[in-house]
Amino acid sequence: MVERAVVTGGAGFLGSHLCERLLDAGIDVVCLDNFLTGTAANVAHLAGRPGFELVDADVTAFVDIAGDVDYVLHFASPASPIDYLQLPIQTMKVGSLGTLHTLGLAKAKGARFLLASTSETYGDPQVHPQPEWYWGHVNPVGPRGVYDEAKRFAEALTMAYRRYHGVDTAIVRIFNTFGPRMRPNDGRAIPNFIRQALTDQPLTVAGDGTQTRSVCYVDDLVDGILRLLLADAAGPVNIGNPDEMSVRDLADMVIRVTGSRSTVTFVSRPEDDPSVRQPDISLARELLGWEPRVTVEDGLKLTAAWFREHPEFYAATAHRAASQPAPEVGGQFPHDHSGAS
Ligand code: NAD
Ligand code: UDP
Repeated sequence: MVERAVVTGGAGFLGSHLCERLLDAGIDVVCLDNFLTGTAANVAHLAGRPGFELVDADVTAFVDIAGDVDYVLHFASPASPIDYLQLPIQTMKVGSLGTLHTLGLAKAKGARFLLASTSETYGDPQVHPQPEWYWGHVNPVGPRGVYDEAKRFAEALTMAYRRYHGVDTAIVRIFNTFGPRMRPNDGRAIPNFIRQALTDQPLTVAGDGTQTRSVCYVDDLVDGILRLLLADAAGPVNIGNPDEMSVRDLADMVIRVTGSRSTVTFVSRPEDDPSVRQPDISLARELLGWEPRVTVEDGLKLTAAWFREHPEFYAATAHRAASQPAPEVGGQFPHDHSGAS
């Protein structure tokens, strides 16, 4: 009997890679998306594959799927800071109501549920690197609170369904991930830097660039998520690449791997921007036998090559988020709002 997975946010960056890898593993996929920050173009290459179905649905409304479902992977949510600053209510609704509905679907179908949580649950961390036992340091009333607290609520709700309803659940805390099919205008550091490098514009480094991130190539991340999905583990489990570097060094690496003539320009730092971030992946190593394999440099080369081969994504204006009003928050670095966000 062929297994079947429902992937919410399946037409987004991570969701589209997940759908592809689930199909490769012989699992049928129902991809649910309302195209708020994603696009059907991300899964167009899967459209003809047997066992793949794309459904235009908003998971903050009732989620109804006919037939058996073995896995529910809840990935729907704006994820880039400029997206969730522009879409604060949608972000809180998809983290709360969307998680409620998808947990309800998993309960009704007897499916295993996997929540895409985030390193943002640690906020601006005071424990470094971040192990799963760390409760975090989040400002609930700051601009990023809409995302961080929605994910923290989603984690709590997932555990409530596990404890009270006996739903088989898993929580993955995803650290910054990059790769093909990120929107060049989504505002995150890597797509911004690659787009700027490929068009010989200055790379916009926020603050003095000494804040750190630990960035993971998408293939490694999806591998870790599939291992967790098929394991008998609840988590939360951190999945990310512990190779920590400053944002300034990341910008320099992008300039080097793309052979760009760009320079670096310093712009204001967003409010509540975490100053350090590095996953402790001891648990993923122990439970899942997982660790990343692709170096940051190789991942950046693969991503830049994809951006070069897909110039149409530079003009990506088809996202529904594009029609939303601009955010009214202080301290944001200037963005190119000509694109998707
Ligand atoms: P993305 O914006 O590319 O994908 C999110 C998808 O969710 C989009 O296709 C969007 O249209 C869809 N969506 C949003 N609201 C929806 C709703 N109400 N109903 C149905 N679909 C909806 O972002 P991504 O980077 O692929 O992130 C995917 C998930 O992974 C998110 O939950 C995010 O919080 C989590 N995550 C991502 C990262 C990362 O580095 N990419 C890090 C931590 C956590
Ligand atoms: N950043 C930057 N220039 C940009 C976009 C982001 O210097 O053009 C910085 C941002 O302030 C943060 C880091 O890069 O310190 C990572 O930002 P991103 O939006 O990719 O992810 P976050 O970890 O903040 O969710």
